[in-house]
Amino acid sequence: MLQLTDIIGHTAPLKVLKSAINSGEIAHAYLFTGQEGVGKRSAALAWASILLCGKGGDIACGKCGNCIKMAKEVHPDLILASPVAREKKVKEELDITHIRELTKALSYRPYEAKIKVAIVDRADMMNTPAGNAFLKTLEEPPPDTVIILVTSNIRSLLPTIVSRCQVIRFGPVDHESVKTFLMDMKGMGENEAEAVAALAKGSPGTALNNEELESRKEVRSMAWRFLCGILDGDTSEVFKLAQAIDRSKERALVDSVLASIRLLLRDLAVLKTCGKYDNLINMDLGGELLPRSRECSLRSILRAHKIAVDISSGRLWNINPLLSMSLMALEMRK
Ligand SMILES: [Zn+2]
Repeated sequence: MLQLTDIIGHTAPLKVLKSAINSGEIAHAYLFTGQEGVGKRSAALAWASILLCGKGGDIACGKCGNCIKMAKEVHPDLILASPVAREKKVKEELDITHIRELTKALSYRPYEAKIKVAIVDRADMMNTPAGNAFLKTLEEPPPDTVIILVTSNIRSLLPTIVSRCQVIRFGPVDHESVKTFLMDMKGMGENEAEAVAALAKGSPGTALNNEELESRKEVRSMAWRFLCGILDGDTSEVFKLAQAIDRSKERALVDSVLASIRLLLRDLAVLKTCGKYDNLINMDLGGELLPRSRECSLRSILRAHKIAVDISSGRLWNINPLLSMSLMALEMRK
């Protein structure tokens, strides 16, 4: 079964959770927040195992009836909720029916453990009526219950919900930990683990999601081709990206490419100033980035970075996209 010790990284938030168990001061509601795939839901399940096991200490025994049922996620005192699409082509959401079912399940006394634990995954997808109904549950929580909301988009939650939860923040997992996890647990070779960890950007869940990895790889490759095109004086990549920006439906893709360009420029600046691979985000590209960093000045890299930020933030979005991308290209060539 999943234990807190299986969670990669997150020393500080896990410490908070363990000390809540050890001190017996457990809040009624928690909000686990952090980027997608970082291990929030796994941490919620592992922590719920300890709460339901009830053998004492900050680890679930793994042997009792509670633990055996938890390992299969079929414990009657574990209530799981996540968004669903009620009809085809309707977006997934947590609706009022979900919240009523959750409230009803929490209103019963625990069946087998000492408490009930509810985990609400992607809680930011609660629609307004569901959010208002859930707020009532949070205001008057049933006794012997712990509610854990999980979200990668805290800003979409009602502030009144956030303020009634103890917020536990899960930051990105450090590169080395993700890399070691991929080598030890998934049997990857060092080079592959290095590349996958770099693309996953601190998210072990993303590192295991082939589809997401492929799309990130493609986005980064577009960004890198763009930057190399500029440095080689090849304007076709500049035109391609400018055209993509011009088509509003591609906005999401362009945002991703621009974000990737910013990270690559950031890495070029790191190499320019200290020449070491240690602090690179795109560590697997270090061998290609280093010679490129010598082709431009630090000032031009930073100016190009600023233009990329301005385009992403919308400050330059409404002027001619070709002009703004050309501006970035010009800065890089200086
Ligand atoms: Zn147990």
